[in-house]
Amino acid sequence: MSLTEIRKIINDSDNIVCLCGLGMNSECGFPDHRVPGEAYDIELKYGHSPEDLFSSLFYTVRTKQFFQYYKNEILCLDREPGAAFYSLAELEKTGKLRATITRSFYSLPQRAGCKKVIELLGSIYKNTCPHCGTEYTVDFVKSASSVPLCPECQKTIRPGVCLYGEMVDNQLTTKSAETISKADVLLVLGTNLKSRLCEQRLKYFNGSKVILINEEEHYSDDLADYVIHDKVNDVLPYLVS
Ligand SMILES: [Zn+2]
Repeated sequence: MSLTEIRKIINDSDNIVCLCGLGMNSECGFPDHRVPGEAYDIELKYGHSPEDLFSSLFYTVRTKQFFQYYKNEILCLDREPGAAFYSLAELEKTGKLRATITRSFYSLPQRAGCKKVIELLGSIYKNTCPHCGTEYTVDFVKSASSVPLCPECQKTIRPGVCLYGEMVDNQLTTKSAETISKADVLLVLGTNLKSRLCEQRLKYFNGSKVILINEEEHYSDDLADYVIHDKVNDVLPYLVS
């Protein structure tokens, strides 16, 4: 299958849904603390695993440590969305892309111009005081000297991301399944088909073509109809141009 043929499939469809994986973040220089090397570095630095540090338990009980990790390691506000995200925004503008579904909470598709995004695990840009409901910017959270507090009520500001130990919002799960069930073409980017993003959702897909673009090879790649092993930032701009 040549790139030209895949390009034609994208061009001919007006009903594409994208599953946007964490490999897309890595391509833009975002950390991935699930990778053993990175997880080890975090554990050395903080004395706890990323799963512990980023858990609801730490947020509740060891709040200071949670925010130390969250502000220093998770809130990398100097990174930018890569070229592939602008391609997604372009596809959305032309009416071809119906939705982008992701477990990333960095809102990269929106920052590149996408509007129809389902963020299963929330976003670092939505921060709320659980007491009075006032919303705060991510810069406010990042620049707090220690734990970010609502100036009105002195309560800890809650980052709008799903932590380990918390349930993914049921409505978003349902909405993502419905969206996928109506798509003709599924565009899987920067992840494999057995990832947490894909495996539970592929079963809802009733369309005919799964296009997978991921730099890393995986044993499940054969499940896709079209596979490209390359950086998404390098390939997608060509496919949608
Ligand atoms: Zn408040």
